[in-house]
Amino acid sequence: MTSNEFLSSVMSFQEEAFDRKGFDEHIRNILREPKKVVEVSFPVRLRNNEIRVFKGFRVLHSNFLGPGKGGIRYAPYVNLQEIIALAMLMTWKNALHRLPYGGAKGGVIVNPRSLEEWEIENLTRAFTRAISEHIGSNKDISAPDINTDEKIMAWIADEYSNIKGTFDPAVVTGKPVNFYGIEGRKESTGYGAGMVLEYFLKKYLKKSKPRIAVQGFGNAGYYFSKYLVSKGYDIYAISDSTAGIKSENGIDIEHAKKYKDERRYFKDCSRGDLCYIIGNGEYQIIDNEELIKMDADVLVLAATENQITKNNADEVKAKLIVEIANGPVTYEADKILKEKGVVILPDLLVNGGGVVVSYFEWLQNREWKRWGREKVMKKLYEHMINTSKQVYEYSLKHNMDLRTASYDLSLNYLWDVAKYRI
Ligand code: NAD
Repeated sequence: MTSNEFLSSVMSFQEEAFDRKGFDEHIRNILREPKKVVEVSFPVRLRNNEIRVFKGFRVLHSNFLGPGKGGIRYAPYVNLQEIIALAMLMTWKNALHRLPYGGAKGGVIVNPRSLEEWEIENLTRAFTRAISEHIGSNKDISAPDINTDEKIMAWIADEYSNIKGTFDPAVVTGKPVNFYGIEGRKESTGYGAGMVLEYFLKKYLKKSKPRIAVQGFGNAGYYFSKYLVSKGYDIYAISDSTAGIKSENGIDIEHAKKYKDERRYFKDCSRGDLCYIIGNGEYQIIDNEELIKMDADVLVLAATENQITKNNADEVKAKLIVEIANGPVTYEADKILKEKGVVILPDLLVNGGGVVVSYFEWLQNREWKRWGREKVMKKLYEHMINTSKQVYEYSLKHNMDLRTASYDLSLNYLWDVAKYRI
């Protein structure tokens, strides 16, 4: 599936929401197009004095609710259609979570694994210079996403502040805690998703020990797993882009993280004691497709978009799907899964913990204050449960699935604000 199809999938969910609500056509027409698309090419000095030209994007889909907000990803497959789709999803997500932000997203076409750290810094600073006119703490605020982290956010904040001649750390969130970041941001997406799953498990799966499989053991997948293990659940399988590990004894999450931090891929987990430790005494290497089809009660999608499509939706055995990644289930697959009675906890709701804590960081920066970890976690929990409750109750009241309820609630709020702005 191409990114074009990803965009049309996101647009289909959006169009359906407009069809149901029947609001003024102006808002539908406005939200069909991104408000601003910035495409930049910029030179970066690399090792051996090579100067390579990179391409990057920053897309502002909508600023009805406030400044744009959305992450920046670094990956070789990044393309404009994908970034537009992701910016669009951010508009809906921010509206659902009642945050004062519009939707935005950015990306650079690069394989960061081929670069050394100082080269990534050069690239980040050059990208920041190239888009500096289009970002700002009241205009468009970035955050980490695939292959970008707190260090990269610190370089963006520093470069931007140098350009503007005024220190403005709130131009990005997800910064290091000691560099105007906030306690708990790193964990927030995974923990927030864990909180949402806990809330809905009680409603939809009355099993005390559900079998949980996690596709994508990166930042969000790891913290999600850690949260659930801390609550007494077991994770039966995890995967990265190369392969997965499955164990009937449950996965030892901390050893799996240690293994990944040493920059090894799960596909190489075929020798040595560490793999037995990860699998608590046993393990099996499985491929990515196998994980999607495995005999699990809960399938967590924490890798990337388009993982369940019309081609494999029929083979999913899980009863509950948790969308931590943005757009991991396509529009067509969503219909097939619904037919099969699979409950989907949608991306708009599930992965909102990251942007919620980003909002706390932004507030903290604007007041030059520091929040403690306890306050952040308490407020994150209250926020995720409150939003989950609203979605659940709306879905019951209107007899609809949770994705449809999420889009409807977002659109109600978007419309309440947008009607004064068009
Ligand atoms: P990450 O780069 O830390 O981790 C992604 C993981 O997925 C990596 O381990 C990678 O190897 C794996 N992966 C990639 N393709 C795969 C495949 N086909 N099968 C199995 N594994 C695969 O990224 P992240 O920050 O954890 O983000 C993961 C997803 O969550 C993305 O879709 C991102 O947009 C979304 N998300 C992240 C945040 C956040 O705060 N990090 C917030 C909201 C949404």
